[in-house]
Amino acid sequence: LLTIRHMRKAFGDNQVLKDISLSVRNGEIVSVIGPSGSGKSTLLRCATMLETMDGGSLGYSGVWACEAVDGQGGDAVYASQAQLQKIHRSFGLVFQNFNLFPHYSVLKNVMDAPVRVLKQDREQAKQEALKLLEQFGLADKADAYPCELSGGQQQRVSVARALALKPEILFLDEPTSALDPELTADVLNVLKQLAAQHMTMVIVTHELEFAREVSDRIIFVENGEIVEQGTPEQLFASDKQRVQEFIGKLS
Ligand code: ATP
Ligand code: MG
Repeated sequence: LLTIRHMRKAFGDNQVLKDISLSVRNGEIVSVIGPSGSGKSTLLRCATMLETMDGGSLGYSGVWACEAVDGQGGDAVYASQAQLQKIHRSFGLVFQNFNLFPHYSVLKNVMDAPVRVLKQDREQAKQEALKLLEQFGLADKADAYPCELSGGQQQRVSVARALALKPEILFLDEPTSALDPELTADVLNVLKQLAAQHMTMVIVTHELEFAREVSDRIIFVENGEIVEQGTPEQLFASDKQRVQEFIGKLS
């Protein structure tokens, strides 16, 4: 579903992503872990085109958003606007800080994009939004405003909002790191529900236990490179010292 080949990204002379290659299959759940500053967020931002990449290729379902000129790690050349717009619909994004529209009710936050972007019928969008809110234990908050919700509730709304656009793949960048442990558990439970429904997800997280439980694959990133990857069992049993040190520190 997602193919990244030889992705490179630098900010000035800071080479943040060095040569990242990564594929995610339909239904797969991939967690990305690694030290602060290792390039995890940059990887997600480049994969979702919030940030341009310098070199390498990026494709969704076989459609290239961005191709390297020499097919390897060459300079990145982006597809046409029209094509990019189509590709944009294939993924959803959830950030650490929720990013809800403060002046919209919860319901409007969730149904706004389907109506405006997908031109979905208003009533249908509303019914679907209410269903998502109910699934995430927020049915009674539909008319509330984001500022009236706890952080965990806000984050569940942002997951619902991302899903309302029916993405093929959902990217989450530290979805629980702004939350206290109890609220974290609520959000992780929502993600576990999605995992059980085989939603394709790429999750940057420091929640190792969660990653271990839901991931098909865990990727360890350090200094802009994938240092290790494998099933949770393989990753936790890695013989690489850096991986063990990192896991040791977090658990
Ligand atoms: P954390 O776990 O703390 O979120 P991270 O792995 O997500 O870290 P990134 O946010 O990807 O790390 O940052 C990787 C490096 O890129 C850092 O050295 C950071 O300073 C740099 N960087 C990120 N975004 C920018 C930017 N817009 N301009 C300049 N440098 C940036
Ligand atoms: Mg980050």
